[in-house]
Amino acid sequence: MSEAIKTDVLIIGAGPCGLFAVFELGLLDMKVHLVDILDKIGGQCAELYPEKPIYDIPGIPFVTGQGLTEQLLEQIKPFGPTFHLNEMVESIEKIGDPLFRVKTDAGKEFEAKVVVISAGGGSFQPKRPPVPGIEAYEGTSVFYAVRKMEQFRDKNILIVGGGDSALDWTLNLHPIAKRITLLHRRDDFRAAPHSVEQMRALVADGKMDLKIGQVTGLEGADGQLSGAALKANDNAVSTIACDTMLPFFGLTMKLGPVANWGVALENNLVPVDTAAFETNVSGIFAIGDINTYPGKLKLILSGFHEGALMAQKAHRYVYPDKRLVFQYTTSSSSLQKKLGVN
Ligand code: FAD
Repeated sequence: MSEAIKTDVLIIGAGPCGLFAVFELGLLDMKVHLVDILDKIGGQCAELYPEKPIYDIPGIPFVTGQGLTEQLLEQIKPFGPTFHLNEMVESIEKIGDPLFRVKTDAGKEFEAKVVVISAGGGSFQPKRPPVPGIEAYEGTSVFYAVRKMEQFRDKNILIVGGGDSALDWTLNLHPIAKRITLLHRRDDFRAAPHSVEQMRALVADGKMDLKIGQVTGLEGADGQLSGAALKANDNAVSTIACDTMLPFFGLTMKLGPVANWGVALENNLVPVDTAAFETNVSGIFAIGDINTYPGKLKLILSGFHEGALMAQKAHRYVYPDKRLVFQYTTSSSSLQKKLGVN
């Protein structure tokens, strides 16, 4: 394992509330790293409703989920946060007063003075296809996400699904894979039309295979896949030779590892005080949809407010000897300097 990344604050979850927290922490000179399971920034806004309009962000009468994400990224640019995408925070260990060691499923390790849980409804996790015995191949031959493309060089890959992820990875992995077979239950795809066209052109040129049907079983030994049983729509059964399978059946939200982080939970939410949105563990805060307190509303604007108050208390942990002076961005030249506008 490489050396731990040291940071003032580690934010778990790059949804809208985690993003705005970077702004509030940045104004108070705290450096931030963010980790998110998704391959994109923006949480629910980017993953669940990128093109839907939001009408209740203060001062912005109308913005889409993706639009809000982009505006937030623009707003926090001066503070140069570092994003670690495609990684899930698995454990938090208290190693100081306060100092935390945080580990991800990709083997990354952080040492942070403050941890902010802005994990929304929990972790987006891949839906497992209903194939008997698939667990035995997960992590060795069956993967639900592509973390490093190189891992799939010269592989004989079966990609299952008909949405954007299935089509995008078919096209991206095609140049480095030995062979790609795309399998979908019908010859009609939900993915971007341009990607579907590109895929069909590769099939027409004999450069990849397209099959219609469903995987009903897997063949192999010791976690190493050698083939997948395919049932076509006319019930004919055949075998597709493959050493790797990538099923893309969409995502579902689960609480995930939050339950193992040592903070109190109440109905799968993290109870916090409303003065600083701190959990029962000093130095670990929870903001946005993941927290609960009397009167809580799961709105983006609530999470923005929570981030502002959290940053005030976080400052005490990061700079125990510095006095915090309340300032407005409108009139403080020192804040404006940090924002690069003065
Ligand atoms: P999220 O947006 O859920 O982001 C949390 C992030 O944490 C996710 O990206 C997740 O991958 C990551 N994560 C979780 N666990 C881990 C882990 N262990 N390691 C690493 N990363 C992790 N709200 C409004 O205010 N107005 C609206 O009009 C509105 N419309 C909505 C419409 C729809 C269809 C939906 C689904 C929601 C809507 N909401 C609306 C609610 C709003 O999207 C949420 O309140 C908001 O996204 C919460 O932000 P968040 O940052 O707390 O969490």
